Amino acid sequence: MPRIEIDAQRCKGCGFCVKFCPKNLIHLNSDFNNKGYHPAVFTGEEKCTGCAICALVCPDIAITVYK
Ligand code: SF4
Ligand code: SF4
Repeated sequence: MPRIEIDAQRCKGCGFCVKFCPKNLIHLNSDFNNKGYHPAVFTGEEKCTGCAICALVCPDIAITVYK
């Protein structure tokens, strides 16, 4: 099953992955990370296609895709 992992401490909460995931499987957490940003969280393990668009658009290389 494809899935992603997001390194919450690298994330700057820009929201690119949230906007570009074609399945709408990523959201911003209401909690803060160590840098004071709302980190992205993956919420759709069963629907992820492993397309890797989220990882490609992340400017902070915070997302790893597993296929
Ligand atoms: S790999 Fe594709 S489907 Fe899965 S979370 Fe990233 S953008 Fe969404
Ligand atoms: S694109 Fe990267 S830095 Fe931006 S919210 Fe998503 S994981 Fe965080």
